Amino acid sequence: MPPADQGPMILIRRLRQIMAERGTGQERLDRIVRQIANLMVAEVCSIYVRRQDGSLELFATEGLNHDAVHQTHMKRGEGLVGLIAEQAEPVNLSEAQTHPAFSFRPETGEEVYHSFLGVPVLRSGNVLGVLVVQNRTPRHYIDDEVEALETTAMVLAEHLASGDVAGALGPGQTAATTRPGVVKGQVLSEGIALGHVVLHEPRVVVKTLLADDPERERARLDAGIETLRLTIDDMLARRDLAGPGEHREVLETYRLFAHDSGWINRLQEAVGSGLTAEAVVERVRNDTRARMLRKADAYWRERFRDLDDLSDRLLRILVGRTGTAAGDALPDDTILVARGMGPAELLDYDRTKVRGLIIEEGGASSHVAIVAKALGIAAIGQAERIVESVEPGDAVIVDAESGEAHLRPSPEVIAAYADKARFRAKRQQRYQGLRDQPAVTRDGTRIALNINAGLLVDIPHLEESGADGIGLFRTELEFMLSPNILLKDKQASIYRRIIEAAGDRPVVFRTLDIGGDKLLPYLRHDKEENPAMGWRAIRMTLDRSALFRAQIRALLKAASGRDLRVMLPMITEPSEYVRARAIVDDELSMAARFGWPAAARIYIGAMIEVPALLMQLDRLFAIADFASIGSNDLVQFLFAADRNNARLAGRYDSLSLPVLRALAQIVAASERHDKPVTLCGEMAGRPLEAMALLGVGMRSVSMAPASLGPVKAMVLSLDAAKLRRRMTGWLADDMSDPRAELERFAAEERVDLGRT
Ligand code: PEP
Ligand code: MG
Repeated sequence: MPPADQGPMILIRRLRQIMAERGTGQERLDRIVRQIANLMVAEVCSIYVRRQDGSLELFATEGLNHDAVHQTHMKRGEGLVGLIAEQAEPVNLSEAQTHPAFSFRPETGEEVYHSFLGVPVLRSGNVLGVLVVQNRTPRHYIDDEVEALETTAMVLAEHLASGDVAGALGPGQTAATTRPGVVKGQVLSEGIALGHVVLHEPRVVVKTLLADDPERERARLDAGIETLRLTIDDMLARRDLAGPGEHREVLETYRLFAHDSGWINRLQEAVGSGLTAEAVVERVRNDTRARMLRKADAYWRERFRDLDDLSDRLLRILVGRTGTAAGDALPDDTILVARGMGPAELLDYDRTKVRGLIIEEGGASSHVAIVAKALGIAAIGQAERIVESVEPGDAVIVDAESGEAHLRPSPEVIAAYADKARFRAKRQQRYQGLRDQPAVTRDGTRIALNINAGLLVDIPHLEESGADGIGLFRTELEFMLSPNILLKDKQASIYRRIIEAAGDRPVVFRTLDIGGDKLLPYLRHDKEENPAMGWRAIRMTLDRSALFRAQIRALLKAASGRDLRVMLPMITEPSEYVRARAIVDDELSMAARFGWPAAARIYIGAMIEVPALLMQLDRLFAIADFASIGSNDLVQFLFAADRNNARLAGRYDSLSLPVLRALAQIVAASERHDKPVTLCGEMAGRPLEAMALLGVGMRSVSMAPASLGPVKAMVLSLDAAKLRRRMTGWLADDMSDPRAELERFAAEERVDLGRT
């Protein structure tokens, strides 16, 4: 063998030459094996390529019987070659035939060879094939030889991934990423979308392996690692990504890995071998993958995923591709795929191109789900391992009715979805037919059905849905879209457009609910351990009264001469309502004094989102003009369960006794004080949940526009008084499973829950 420090370099240069030569992909493969055998002084060199079914086919050989090429197939996991592919790590044996995994194939004529060295051909951590050298004499290959063959395998991976070799898998593909598959998750935003995958955080495919100047590569690697550390610190400091729960934990793990001396040492050792910084990262990732995957337990596999992500991040830094895909040219039928995503990140995308979203995190009431609904994007959350199960450009169907994502669907599945989409369109048509019909229950109670909004793009929804008004206008969303703070006049023009579009229909503007997972890049916000329970919403706006005053002034101006409805988020103490109201009154008197345009009448409501308020409902209703229940927050705080945490999403039920009792108490208090109450959390948009709300006596709800039709169909088919009598009984007893009872009631009473 040539000296180890030169061997790989010479070999790689030769292989590069071969790859640039004329001829078919197969001819080049044949030349490659000859060259490797020659330079590694091996009697045999063979390449096995992984096929779609996971088997390995002998694609080229020097030394073994040529007739066996394309004839010898090793089943998944079969033989030493199968073992290497399964474990994604080298096998180095001086006596191959005594190894328990050895599988004798007479057609190859390999019985005369004793020593065996095989390495996986890896690309983006996926096994594309196996590269083997064999010798007659029993010998153990030294570490440098193993390394040389591994580096050679990287070049070979490039050749296989180029698509030049007929029958080999494409770039980054594995047998698993070429087959159709289904990933089950939770519906975040209803709808059905068919399109093509765009990874929110694009993957880098390493193209240049050989360094011209190893010292320069070392410097690039060091700088890249430094930048990586800084970006992670930065992400942890930014609250929109670092809310409590899963995402924060992942980032903390990234930070640990980014400082892990084992990983850093391996990278730094490898950069000495003449590879580019990118190739080094890829190389170490491949080795680590092999080591981690051997540990069968879930904990290690999860850590590998974190390290894999981190390697991707470092690669993106090295190639200067650090942004998300939001700035790229997107296909018209984009389905975004990500591990996690904040609401602001989704808003960064061109809405006209994005049809669907699939993420590994996220609960149904997370803000990214709310934004997806507002934008009419079909979205699924908690889709386990979706990122590693797809390749960019894969066809995918997002069924955000059943919560399933169909990856690389077969023509039959696509046809079935065309049917489903038609059926859905028909159902939508039926709902459309209800548009102008007032929402009156079977027993004659008029229910106000409002929509939630927050962006100017929501305006047409009001007309399309036939809603009674806007029950929640999340004013912070337009702030999140803006690169800098929205000044008073700009705000006023947005609010005016909304008010004018609504005409006679009421619009309830919620004052800024900043904090938690909704941060404004231009507004300083100190790091908090628990931002959802931190300095957010009314807590922040009372402290920053200039911001609050500017918003109130803008609202008063926008509503000039009309009625204005404003509600205050996250009220915990009635005294906060009193303080906020005093500011509004002050603004009103200033307007009167200076002759500024102002609303004719102003109604100020409180959002009930914090359980402490449940213990002081009479005090609240005595002073507030109305109340609106923010069930997304109320439920998360009642159960102490983060609304963004996918792991907790299935654990607590909004149709359980604690929630229903709390709602019934609120309705009772509102009736005592003769003040309106409504609910604007996500539960109002689910027909069964909405039915329960009417059952506890609510007469007004507000929901995502797409839910209005199904909820109206439910209202029209319900005897609300009968349900209320039933529910009063259930809530007085310690009913253990109200959801089941509600389902039973709906079935008996033939309430339309939109399921057929
Ligand atoms: C809620 O908490 O239910 C609510 C409507 O407010 P948001 O989802 O914006 O926190
Ligand atoms: Mg809320």
